[in-house]
This record gives sequence, C-alpha cells and structure tokens, in this order.
Amino acid sequence: MDKKYLCGLNIDEISDLAKAGGFTRSQALIAAVALYRKGESGLQKTTRIPASMKKYLLESASPGIYPPVKSEKSADGTVKHLFVSPEGKKYESVYIPEAKRRTVCVSTQSGCRIGCLLCVTGKYGFHGNLSAGDIVNQVISNPFRDKVTHVVFMGMGEPMDNTDNVLKAADILTAEWGLAISSRNITVSTVGITSGVKRFLAESFCNLTLSLYSPFPEERIRVIPAEREYPAREIITIMASWPLRKKRRLSIAYVMIKGVNDSEEHLEELKNILISTGIRVNILPYHTIGDDSWESSPDDRMHYFRNSLLMSGISASVRKSRGVDISAACGLLASGMA
Ligand code: SF4
Repeated sequence: MDKKYLCGLNIDEISDLAKAGGFTRSQALIAAVALYRKGESGLQKTTRIPASMKKYLLESASPGIYPPVKSEKSADGTVKHLFVSPEGKKYESVYIPEAKRRTVCVSTQSGCRIGCLLCVTGKYGFHGNLSAGDIVNQVISNPFRDKVTHVVFMGMGEPMDNTDNVLKAADILTAEWGLAISSRNITVSTVGITSGVKRFLAESFCNLTLSLYSPFPEERIRVIPAEREYPAREIITIMASWPLRKKRRLSIAYVMIKGVNDSEEHLEELKNILISTGIRVNILPYHTIGDDSWESSPDDRMHYFRNSLLMSGISASVRKSRGVDISAACGLLASGMA
C-alpha cells in the first residue's frame, strides 16, 4: 500500500481521515488550512483543534512537506530549487520575483517523456510523475512562500501527461481550505494532449497556455513530437470554442528563434489560425541549449511580431528571460541533473 502523506490530500480525504479518528469535518477544515498555509509547524501550532487530533493526523500520515536540497540564485533575483521527493524523484522549481508579482514555476514530472527538441528536460528522460503533494510542496516549501502571488505549471514535465495530479494540485492551490491563490493567477502550460486539455478546461478555472513553436504542422512535428498525435490546430479549435469563463486566460506561448520561426510567413499564419479566437500570444526568447546552432530572435523582431499581432486584433506581449545564468529559464530545467 502507498505511504500516506497529508500534503496532497483534498478536503474530502482529510475529512475522511479525521472522521475515522472521531473528529469532525469542521475540525478537518481547520487542520487543512493550517497545514496548507503554514506547513507542518502551522498544524502543530494551531490552537483551534485538540492536541489529540494533531497527534492522530501526524501518526496516520506523514506531513509530505519537505524543503529543497539545493538552491541557486540568479543575478536577476530568480531562485532555482532542486527537490528530491520522499520516493527519490528529482525535480526543479523556480521562484521569480518581479515588481508586481512573485511567481513559483512548478514541475509536474521528474523529467519528461515528450522529448521536444527545444527543451533540456526532454533530454533528461522520464523519471516518473509527481504526486499532487509533490507539486503543492514546491509552493509550500518555497522559502518565499508568504510572498507568492502566482503559480505557473511550466517547470519539468508535461502537465497533461499527469492530469489527475495536476488537477488535484490546482484544486489545493486555489481552494479556500488550501492555499487560496486565485485561479486567475495560476497558469498551466502544455504542448497539447487533447484528452488532458479537454479535462483541464472542464474541471479547472485556471489559465491554459499552448506551447506552439510553429503555426505550420510540418515544422512543429519536427520539434514537438506530440504534434503527430495531437495537432495544435485541433487544440486551438478546442480552446477557442470552449465557453469563456470570466477572467480566464487562454494563450499561445511562441518561442522565437532567429531565422527558424520568425519570418513574415510565420507571422501571417499565426494571425490566420488565431484571429477571432480570443486566444492571446506570449512571445518568448529562445534559450540556446548546449552547442545547438539556434539563437533567439532579436528584441526588435519579437516586438515587431507583437505589434503586428496587436494591429490584427490579437492580444500579444513579449516576455523577458529570467534566470538564464542559473539555467532556470524556460526549456533549461534539468540542465546538470544526473
Ligand atoms: S517542452 Fe515541455 S513537453 Fe516538451 S520536453 Fe520540455 S517539459 Fe516535456
């Protein structure tokens, strides 16, 4: 039987555990809030439930809250954390402080089995799914946890290849009995696995972004193998036709590579597939991997794309790189992990 951890249980599961020990659902709610907002010490310190309940909970299950084993700080303030789960799975998480927001970028798998060419994580291989508790722990055990305003599922792994745990983690992060982070401030990034995307749109209020690389299927398939089974155009149609929820953001992540996907033809095709969909575009610089020959499109080219998309009525913005010097930027996680 799997070892039981408190972190990663939803309120029904905590309540069932509490009831088995003779405690009530209301007491379970207090225990959940203390655990998810303040960690194990929060559960130990709360005076709103009896000491016998704390003892019972902590004897019935391990807290499942564990700190990073290593942290590296970038010159721009970004901090990369290496975690090792109780089962021995290694994964990284990134804290990104900015003027108006402080974001934790979480991993959903140790490694990844999709194998996209523009990503180091794919080269690390697949070492297992992270549990909902492992995902939530990356926020709870972040040394800056009290400052965190946003969470993005853009670290190691393909979230829609671990949909059950991703949906459960999103539930714990947003619930009032959990971390109570607004779903508007949580974004999940995918290369697009149709069944997972549909489930996510139906069962979560959080934002979704599709990693595109190229609007041309024959180009995308060479870099993002998932295109073969799950064409991006099909995912975009699903996203565009999904009933809009207030303030929920559906977007495309477009990593721009000089001379590869930044031509006028790419720009026009992007417009063709996105016009009138309500889907916005986040343009990102490419981060060179090892000794590959690709390099990022220059800033002025990325801003040209943005302006042209905006003039066509498509919302677009250019994102800055963060944490490149410590290999914490997009596509670089798992660099140096053995
Ligand atoms: S880009 Fe995402 S899906 Fe592709 S290999 Fe990297 S982590 Fe996996």
